[in-house]
Amino acid sequence: MYEHFETNAIRTQTLRSEQREHAVPIFATSSFVFEDAEQARALFASEIEGNIYSRFSNPNNDEFVQKLCLLEHTEDGVATASGMAAMFLSMASFLRAGDHLLASRSLFGSTHQIITQIFPRWGISYTYLDNTDWNNYDQYIRPNTKMIFVETPSNPGLEVLDIAQLAQIAKKHQLILNVDNCFATPYLQNPALLGADIVTHSATKFIDGQGRVLGGAVLGKKHLIQEVRFMARHTGPAMSPFNGWILSKSLETLAVRMEKHCQNALILAERLAQHPEVLSVKYPFLSSHPQYELAKKQMKLGGGLLTFELKGGRERAMCFLDNLRMLSLTSNLGDTRTIVTHPATTTHSKLSAEEQAKVGITQGLIRISVGLEHIEDIWADILQAIEKS
Ligand SMILES: *Cc1c(COP(=O)(O)O)cnc(C)c1O
Repeated sequence: MYEHFETNAIRTQTLRSEQREHAVPIFATSSFVFEDAEQARALFASEIEGNIYSRFSNPNNDEFVQKLCLLEHTEDGVATASGMAAMFLSMASFLRAGDHLLASRSLFGSTHQIITQIFPRWGISYTYLDNTDWNNYDQYIRPNTKMIFVETPSNPGLEVLDIAQLAQIAKKHQLILNVDNCFATPYLQNPALLGADIVTHSATKFIDGQGRVLGGAVLGKKHLIQEVRFMARHTGPAMSPFNGWILSKSLETLAVRMEKHCQNALILAERLAQHPEVLSVKYPFLSSHPQYELAKKQMKLGGGLLTFELKGGRERAMCFLDNLRMLSLTSNLGDTRTIVTHPATTTHSKLSAEEQAKVGITQGLIRISVGLEHIEDIWADILQAIEKS
């Protein structure tokens, strides 16, 4: 363990074979050979540690997740095939029929589907809280409440929640605090240092950062991750070793990439806020953001995402998207390439109009995941598309 994030991300290498390769090799194998029958028995009996089968563990996935644990200041972790596998496992490993979940209302679309459509089939109920409701949280906690699940900053509302405050609530009522840290990444904030029990990631986003692979991770205290590992081993959402290899490499450049994403995003947010055709802009490090002070305190920088609204609602927004020349119309985020989406008709189209309104998704809302291209080229494309729309 070194003193600085960048050094830990680059110099933590747990794997090196007899070939003494500088980069980590790829262990593309479904299973591992036992030394003898006795070792096989001991491995299956968990008397000794070691790899058995890549659904249970694989050196590349372990290398990735151990490094991520170091950067997030968590004790242990499990790598998963996608971010949603991580979100699902992080909840399903702890919630039983009859349990109740408290969650922030502003959530990633598929996380919302799990909570509102899938868990209720299994007798797991939920209550959604808006940002200010957490100040009167007592009235929402029930005797069967087990977990608090939040995203901060949230997708696409960019709401910022006070993780330390939530951790106090969780501790007082013996709840598990589960924070999806996808938007911030461990470079901007470490929920575990603020008291979160579980930290979840879609590694598909900024952690890979180059739009190449899907991946996810559930991190946290050892005794909790044991439950997640059991669930993962027997239900099978294992990460591919190739993706584990890619993502371990990706972590090496996370710090420099996040610095640039955030720098570009802040400039863009400031410029959009001054444009006469723009109705509103939301970015955690703009002083107009409702939780600006908290964001400044909790996050190192404002993140790579912003949302804005043009005058003219949905029709104008669609026209703006169709006039972009360089920026990508695709549903990913956290890529080197700037990505523009219309949440109301794509990522969050499964929400009813009423649900969309409650989390601030208007028909004119445009989400930008600001990439690493030169800011003047990004701005030029946005300007010409505004003018043509
Ligand atoms: C994308 C995303 C997820 C899901 O991750 P996948 O890798 O696409 O499965 C979960 N939470 C947030 C906040 C996301 O942006």
